[in-house]
Amino acid sequence: MSHAQVEVSEVHWLMDMFQTVDVGLVVLNCDYRIQVWNGFMENHSGLTPRQVRDRYLFDLFSEIDEDWLRRKCDPVILLKNRAFTIWEQRPYIFKFRNYRPITGSAEYMYQNSTIFPLTDTRGQVTHLCFIIYDVTDVAVSRIELESMNGRLKQLTKTDFLTQLFNRGYWEENLIQEFKRLQRYQHKSTLLMCDIDHFKRVNDTYGHAAGDVVIQAIADAVRNNLRSTDIAGRYGGEEYAVLLVDTTLQQATVLAERLRQSVEALCIAYNGQQLKVTLSLGLAEYHTEMTEHRQWIEAADKGLYQSKANGRNQVTCFSPE
Ligand code: GH3
Ligand code: MG
Ligand code: MG
Repeated sequence: MSHAQVEVSEVHWLMDMFQTVDVGLVVLNCDYRIQVWNGFMENHSGLTPRQVRDRYLFDLFSEIDEDWLRRKCDPVILLKNRAFTIWEQRPYIFKFRNYRPITGSAEYMYQNSTIFPLTDTRGQVTHLCFIIYDVTDVAVSRIELESMNGRLKQLTKTDFLTQLFNRGYWEENLIQEFKRLQRYQHKSTLLMCDIDHFKRVNDTYGHAAGDVVIQAIADAVRNNLRSTDIAGRYGGEEYAVLLVDTTLQQATVLAERLRQSVEALCIAYNGQQLKVTLSLGLAEYHTEMTEHRQWIEAADKGLYQSKANGRNQVTCFSPE
């Protein structure tokens, strides 16, 4: 083969590779008119190189945010920098339908891209080259994982029966609040409550009825709180509520309102009306407390007093 023949065949191979490589290759001039369009781009857009040649990019692909892309490309032209786009920022540059079977849940192809300058022999930037990567697999699995993690996290936080926070998560919140109170002079109050003579409900109407009562009281707790209060199911038929930035006096009003609303409640179960009452204990955070458990114990003592004094009442624990 002559030297010229070798060169021609090399160009031929290069063109073959350029056509079959599994990334998109696009060259634009500095007026954003398309000059080069490889096989990947043709296959996914359905537009041939002839159809796109010299067309203004933003006319042909109206889905591309012109301001955004120009902001990306300006430094490439002016400073000869490379630029990158990632799917987390924008899912794609070119809106191509996704046909991959395993990632069928995605409607469009997720894309990353690299944009770099092409210079002439004098080093002047005359064109921009885009490499478009199909990252649908990665994106879809990441998105799925994140939503799964979100669901799992939700599951580990909530009590299944009442949808209140479970004890572990509630106590984590209490510890955070306890630390905050040790640093800043705020007043927060802890409320513990327990359904009165709950064993009788189970014994008389059955465990399923008991569950319905536990749910109904959880709803009552929820309905009597503000959005900043943190309520959890502390035990079987015990609830704990952290009343953030609430004094003992304010908390007493809230606890009394909750007590009355439970007292007034008729819980429907199998055509019967069940009634229960609630005993409540309150304790305000105190600077002498060194450990969050002491706060729980203080509220528990209030609750115990309510039980001892005849139930269906609110008692504030005082350190004296
Ligand atoms: P007191 O007024 O002193 O609180 O009396 P009580 O009968 O409520 O006594 P206690 O708090 O000791 O009883 C709690 C009962 O709640 C015991 C347990 O069988 C029942 N329990 C705990 N968890 C559940 C649950 O998830 N569902 C139902 N149905 N019952 C539960
Ligand atoms: Mg009880
Ligand atoms: Mg109990």
